[in-house]
Amino acid sequence: MPISGGFYKVPEETVKIGGNAFQIFPHNARQWKAKVPDDKAAARFKRNMEKFKIDEDSAFCHSGYLINLASPKEDVWEKSLELLEKEIRICAALGIKYLNIHPGSHLGKGEDVGIDLIVKGLDEAFRRTKGTDVMILLENVAPKGNAIGYNFDQMKRIIEMSAFPERIGITYDTCHGFDAGFDIRNPDGVRKLLDEIDKSVGLDRLKMIHLNDSKYPLGAAKDRHESIGLGYIGREGFKNFLSFDEIRKIPWILETPGGNEEHAEDIKRVLEIIGE
Ligand code: ZN
Ligand code: MN
Ligand code: MN
Repeated sequence: MPISGGFYKVPEETVKIGGNAFQIFPHNARQWKAKVPDDKAAARFKRNMEKFKIDEDSAFCHSGYLINLASPKEDVWEKSLELLEKEIRICAALGIKYLNIHPGSHLGKGEDVGIDLIVKGLDEAFRRTKGTDVMILLENVAPKGNAIGYNFDQMKRIIEMSAFPERIGITYDTCHGFDAGFDIRNPDGVRKLLDEIDKSVGLDRLKMIHLNDSKYPLGAAKDRHESIGLGYIGREGFKNFLSFDEIRKIPWILETPGGNEEHAEDIKRVLEIIGE
C-alpha cells in the first residue's frame, strides 16, 4: 500500500480495496532517508488500525531497496545497517511487528562471506533496538545474480548463526519460490515445500505469504510478478496452494502489477479462487 497520503490512511485504503492485511514501505523505498513518525502521527495510525479492524499480525513493513546487508563494500554495509535500524524504529513507533527484508547480495564474494555479513548486520541492528520486539522476516528471493536467500538452507544458516534467533522469521514469496523451482501447482509440491520449511527453520517462523503469480515458467529465475491467476502458477495452481491449512492461517500480501485498482481485482480473484 502506498504511504503517500500518510501512514494513517493505510488501514482505510486497505479495507476500501477489499483487503484485511497490508504491507508498506516505512519510507521512500529508493532513498537512504527515513524519518520516525512523531507521537501524534503514530497515534493516528494506531487509531485507524483499530477502527478498520486490521489485526496486528496482518500489518507488515518491507525494507527499502537500497539496503544490502551482504554487501562487501563497507560504506554500503554501514548505511544499510543505519537504515535498517531506523526502519525497525519506524515499525516500533507504529506498532508494526514485522519488517520484511531481502537477505542481500554478496556481489561475487561468495555465499559464506555474504551470510557472515548479513548475520553481523542483523545482530547489530537487534542489539541497537533491544527493548523493541520487531521481528525481521527474511524473504525468499529468486535465484538471480548473487542473491542470498533463494533456499531454506541459507535461511537456516542465518538464523542459527544469529545471537537473536527469536527475532527472525521468514516470508514465502510464491513468484520467487516458483523461480527457484518450488512447484506449488500440485499437492505434492506444496507438501514438499512445507516439509522443507519445517525441517530447516520451523513452520512457526513463517509469518507472511507474498502472493504473486509469475510471468515466467517454473525455475526461470526471472523475478517477474504477474497478477493472480494470469501467470504460470495460474488459477488452478493457487487453488491448490491456498487450500493448505498451513497457508490459510497466515496473511497473504499481493505484490502484483498495478496499483490499488488492480489489487482490488486481484483480491476479488483470490476470493473467487478460494470460494470455488
Ligand atoms: Zn521483496
Ligand atoms: Mn516479495
Ligand atoms: Mn520480486
